[in-house]
Amino acid sequence: MQCLECDESLDCLDNRHLLRCCGLTLQEYALRHQLPLDVVVHGDLLGHPDPIAGYSPPLRHLSETARAVLRAVNWAGLLQRDDGFVLLPGEVKRLDLLFWDLQWLREYGFKFRQEYRYSESSHRVVARNLLKAPAIHLEPSLESRLSPVPPPDFVFCLAVIVAHIGELQAGYLFMQFSRRSDGQTLALELARRGIEVEELDAADHPQGILLRTATRPDTQRLMALIDSYLKEMPGALERFQQQTPEVTVSKELVFDSAHFITDHPAKCANLHGGRYLLHVKVRGRIDPVTGCVVDYGYLKRVANRQIVERFDHHNLNYAASELSWRSSTEMLCVYIWERLIGYLPGLVELELYETPQSWCTYRGPDLERFQASGSDSLLTHFTDKSLGRSPLRSLVTETPAMLREVVKA
Ligand SMILES: [Zn+2]
Repeated sequence: MQCLECDESLDCLDNRHLLRCCGLTLQEYALRHQLPLDVVVHGDLLGHPDPIAGYSPPLRHLSETARAVLRAVNWAGLLQRDDGFVLLPGEVKRLDLLFWDLQWLREYGFKFRQEYRYSESSHRVVARNLLKAPAIHLEPSLESRLSPVPPPDFVFCLAVIVAHIGELQAGYLFMQFSRRSDGQTLALELARRGIEVEELDAADHPQGILLRTATRPDTQRLMALIDSYLKEMPGALERFQQQTPEVTVSKELVFDSAHFITDHPAKCANLHGGRYLLHVKVRGRIDPVTGCVVDYGYLKRVANRQIVERFDHHNLNYAASELSWRSSTEMLCVYIWERLIGYLPGLVELELYETPQSWCTYRGPDLERFQASGSDSLLTHFTDKSLGRSPLRSLVTETPAMLREVVKA
């Protein structure tokens, strides 16, 4: 096989050659030359064994930074355990960030591995990028190594966490934790530093939590706190600052619901059902790491959790108290907007079809205005505590004699 970077003829093109020749890994080389991994990866490299004996034990004296990095990636929920190893996976677009991790984690005996295997489900050779260390080298227990006294610098840990799992949407920072307590601990530490975050439902992790900065100024304070650290991590700050193209993405969702319209003079007063079609549109800059404005999967999970699960095969009038009086497409759009804006601050438009011939389009307040004004009074009329407090209501309970007195007066 001939190396397309240096023209040298080789028995086996591998990382040992490529990293010396052009600095690329095999997967990056395949992407640069638009070659399938099936062609580039030599058969011997597939499922190549990785004996624990090839790993060095941790250094006797670990640096503060190494301890903080290990604690931060564990806090972020990134460390995996597999077949006697502790793994830190990385993305091919961000290998330099993984190498930044490696410069510290190698003190623990971590090594970089790009592993290739034939995936039967996708019918092709796939690669994954990992830092690996034998779990036994991190004993007596990883947890005791992760909770050293004194604890590592929180701000530095925060920077590592944000660099790895932070995602910006319309000026709000999101971080998802698969362990609820990890997210809550972070939220507490942030609050102590004057940065508020909201705890949202993490649809992908039943035991998890999704954190979002409460306001844009909270995002700015958070970023200012870790700015100098992010600059040191390859691509970390650029991810949040790069002026990438702005695009709008849409997701279509469907739910079957029944409803009726109270006090309506026509047929809609009767209970009837139909298939609702919802288009959720989110606008924002393309994230240079994910290549997306917002992951369609995230969009779908949020909309399913907040909307579809509530309404599908239900009567709209009883599924949400806000809609008990009127479950028109218009009211439904306002309600849906309020349920989604906290998860999708880039939300720009909803389109809701009650039938293919009848639909409603809504552009509601952005998150900042929604937080300031609260739920629209259209939705809260019947739950508002002031309802029923009008003095005129006493007229209804007065006896006729007393009513005459009122009329005379
Ligand atoms: Zn070469």
